[in-house]
Amino acid sequence: MASIDDPPLRRLAEDGIGHEAAYELISSELLLDGSARLNLATFVTTWMPSQADRLMAQTAEKNMIDKDEYPQTAEIESRCVEILADLWHAPPSDQATGCSTTGSSEAAMLGGLALKWRWRERMRAAGAPTERPNLVAGINVQVCWEKFCRYWDVEPRLVAMEGERYTLGAAEAAALCDENTIGVAAILGSTFDGSYEPVAEIAQALDALQRDKGIDVPIHVDAASGGFVAPFIQPELVWDFRIPRVQSINASGHKYGLVYPGVGWALWRDRDALPADLIFDVNYLGGHMPTFALNFSRPGSEVVTQYLMFTSLGHSGYRAVQQRSSDIARYLAAQIAAIGPYDLVSDASDLPVFAFTLKPEVTNYTVFDVSDRLRERGWLVPAYTFPANREDLSVLRIVVRAGMSHEMADLLLRDLRAHTAALEALDGPLPASRPQVSAFAH
Ligand SMILES: *Cc1c(COP(=O)(O)O)cnc(C)c1O
Repeated sequence: MASIDDPPLRRLAEDGIGHEAAYELISSELLLDGSARLNLATFVTTWMPSQADRLMAQTAEKNMIDKDEYPQTAEIESRCVEILADLWHAPPSDQATGCSTTGSSEAAMLGGLALKWRWRERMRAAGAPTERPNLVAGINVQVCWEKFCRYWDVEPRLVAMEGERYTLGAAEAAALCDENTIGVAAILGSTFDGSYEPVAEIAQALDALQRDKGIDVPIHVDAASGGFVAPFIQPELVWDFRIPRVQSINASGHKYGLVYPGVGWALWRDRDALPADLIFDVNYLGGHMPTFALNFSRPGSEVVTQYLMFTSLGHSGYRAVQQRSSDIARYLAAQIAAIGPYDLVSDASDLPVFAFTLKPEVTNYTVFDVSDRLRERGWLVPAYTFPANREDLSVLRIVVRAGMSHEMADLLLRDLRAHTAALEALDGPLPASRPQVSAFAH
């Protein structure tokens, strides 16, 4: 056996150190990672009940694609799709159309592909060229849409920010559409400031475009975060399949869906919205099971624990969890605005997420300095610069998730007030501490 004190790290040792020693070694090493509960940067779930840990461990070996071997896991996936179709008001049908994915990125790729295929069918039927598809979205799109465009050769048409409009505007979206537009991606919950894009208004602007110019542009809603928030705490907001123009929706089960990474969901409003030639049949108990996915094998445990969360919390449970996050986020936003030097860019009235900046008269320190100081106590609060045309705006962002308590919020406020007071007491400007990152990708 190799020495337990000194196993090689980057090549396979001739002899291993044994399961128990390896477990001790690796679990101690991972203590060096940041504390997930103090991470106010990520949208991804960092707390689940202990029953989820148990069920995940019990289902780790189940391969999601192996519907023949694990028909009950497949059944649980299809129940989750039905639950989401109902939650997002898909038209009633005998079978909801959708699937689980590894996250919103894969789900967005599938939604985008369906849009591209359907656009191509329409163009071919009209005898029109199919070389130059484009997709319209706000410049605040998550990086998965830029990936989608690059990987599948679609021109991204991104609407810049303007003044205090930090998301896609309806008129601006419609103005960029033409006969080569495969769809508009609207975001329910921008990662930059947590605000919802006006899906219903965008749909109206596209209705007008169809009336005036005969161009029919579908909408895909990237509801990575909002798909699990709006139905519970903003039920009156119409953003989903209630809008006929909304053809598909993605969401991350591992964000406000309250499951550890990685599970996401892609749903279409009906079978017509998903072109048949994108679907592959896998053998399923002698019958056929349609699948639509970029990958093949993946664990069943995240899908199973998504169903655990649906079953254990129910509608009222999800509402309570999201409302609590929202209340804490709004409380934090109001308290931070009251400290003095900060201005709110958003106030957590959509997602339990808000961004804030420094008032223009603050010249001795930047949001990047504030982020660095908070990190000394373990708080991860990212600072970043907005994209075009608001590169002048640098912000801090806080994401409140299940697991953040009022006590933790008050500890964060105490630390932020103390650091801010110290920074305010500076006689002159701090030297630039580090390169100021302009893109922030989650
Ligand atoms: C997080 C996020 C994504 C990517 O989701 P993953 O589940 O991490 O792949 C896409 N779009 C938006 C709006 C997001 O917030």
